[in-house]
Amino acid sequence: MSETLQELLEKSNRTLILDGPLGTELTRRGFDVDRPGWSARALVENPELVLQIHLDYVAAGANLLTANTFRTHAVNLKEWSPAQNARELTSIAVELAQQAAGNACLVCGSVSPLGDSYRPQTSLSEDWLIEQHEKMLDELTSVGVDILLVETQTTFRELKVILRLIEKYSIPTMLSVVSFDGLHLLDGTPLPDIAELVTRSKIVALGCNCVPVEIVNTVLNSLKDNQLPKIVYANSGYQNAEGTWVQSLGANLDEHTELAKSWIQHGVRILGGCCGTEVPLIAKFAEKFGEDSV
Ligand SMILES: [Zn+2]
Repeated sequence: MSETLQELLEKSNRTLILDGPLGTELTRRGFDVDRPGWSARALVENPELVLQIHLDYVAAGANLLTANTFRTHAVNLKEWSPAQNARELTSIAVELAQQAAGNACLVCGSVSPLGDSYRPQTSLSEDWLIEQHEKMLDELTSVGVDILLVETQTTFRELKVILRLIEKYSIPTMLSVVSFDGLHLLDGTPLPDIAELVTRSKIVALGCNCVPVEIVNTVLNSLKDNQLPKIVYANSGYQNAEGTWVQSLGANLDEHTELAKSWIQHGVRILGGCCGTEVPLIAKFAEKFGEDSV
């Protein structure tokens, strides 16, 4: 795609369609991600499958693809196999997304939190956070991603480290956070504080992912003082207190799409799917809200 993210956002009021999750699609197609290394394993054990999932999202009408770099940090690979090279896996992940994207889509590099997604770890040393994130950002930018997607962020401290680090790169960066109540980050930071912090950063779109659809409007309201375009990619359900996945309205394509219409009315310009959602949701979003829709 020859246009940059900013050009696409400025050109019109169109909604850009982000892809859906890779992990859910890997599972649905029989690849066991529930092992050390998680979705990064697929880059080595079945790269053709990763490519096919990206291609299916392109065919569904996605404008933005996310490379499978959510778990290619060295720290995540350690438990799987110390022989795995983080830089190499990040590079493979981006190449597969670029191959699928061709000229049709922009490729986002996923910049994930270093700890467990749903359990914010506040004890990680700042020096270590800087070192690990800097490595990932250097690698993603050197292999030519079009966009940095700082996603699934749960901790104010880690977020501040990343926001400082991205200052040195010229690539457009989007930020997506996780909230359980729509009012706070998982570490308890009020979301309006994030909205405020981001106004002094290089972030070009702000929003949430990996949240149940039911709280998205509350999140958007919490971020309303920030005028940036909003990004939302929600889940098909949520994890209950016992750690079991419970489907919610997000699992129903029509309900999810109906809710997405209200998010667009509240400033969402980039719309995709997160855990539990699949390719048909992205196809439906593209049909309803994408470039060629009316
Ligand atoms: Zn998710």
